[in-house]
Amino acid sequence: MREICVREFKDIVQRGMKAALDLLIPRTCLVCGCRLEIEQKHLCPDCLDDLPRTYYWLRRFNPMADRFNALIQEDVKKHTDYTYASALFFYRAESEYRRIPYQIKYHGDIPAGRFFGRQLGHTIAATEHFADVDAVIPVPLHWARKWSRGYNQAEIIASEVASILGAELRIDILQRCRRTRTQTQLSIEGKAANVHGAFRVRTCVIDSIKVPKHLLLIDDVFTTGSTLHACYQALRSVFPPEVRISVATLAFVGEE
Ligand SMILES: [Zn+2]
Repeated sequence: MREICVREFKDIVQRGMKAALDLLIPRTCLVCGCRLEIEQKHLCPDCLDDLPRTYYWLRRFNPMADRFNALIQEDVKKHTDYTYASALFFYRAESEYRRIPYQIKYHGDIPAGRFFGRQLGHTIAATEHFADVDAVIPVPLHWARKWSRGYNQAEIIASEVASILGAELRIDILQRCRRTRTQTQLSIEGKAANVHGAFRVRTCVIDSIKVPKHLLLIDDVFTTGSTLHACYQALRSVFPPEVRISVATLAFVGEE
């Protein structure tokens, strides 16, 4: 009884502190900019309802996976399994939802990265073809960029996905071995050339771990797929074909 009273008291104090903080520094919806209520996080209920979800997690074969598999087929001579791919929502230049990855990547909004990472994780966890994922690997940043930014947004998202899937988060397997230019202003061919050979697998780590069954590569946004493809190539050069490698991102630049 006493414990319940203490807990209730703590809840009241925490709510009061949150309300006071909201008055001092009002929190706003990342998409429409309206003021958020105490219990709301990152998006207002309308914007959360209207999030342009891809529902690709329900479809093994979807436009994102097709785009990724087309890249793989260009460099794989022998047959490989169709790679699964999914994203939480569509990213369109004219849509205000583009602010979500931008906020996470450039404005240090780590809580938003965790929130949307969890949303992505729940979609993947509810899907049969991702059920055996046992290791989650974020696309690495070059150490100098991670040092200047202070964090890797893909790692934050991947950490939430791994925890929801009950899989291992592995940030030690892949390494970005050279700095690359930002991809945003480059052509499709330029993007591919920019990241080609930019990643490598730390073989000393591979020798010491149990070979996973199903790896899930995570990034924030899937545009041409060239960054994830370069990571895939690095992993595929080490892991045998029996190890499935899938990809998932918060946002997918494309149409339904
Ligand atoms: Zn809103």
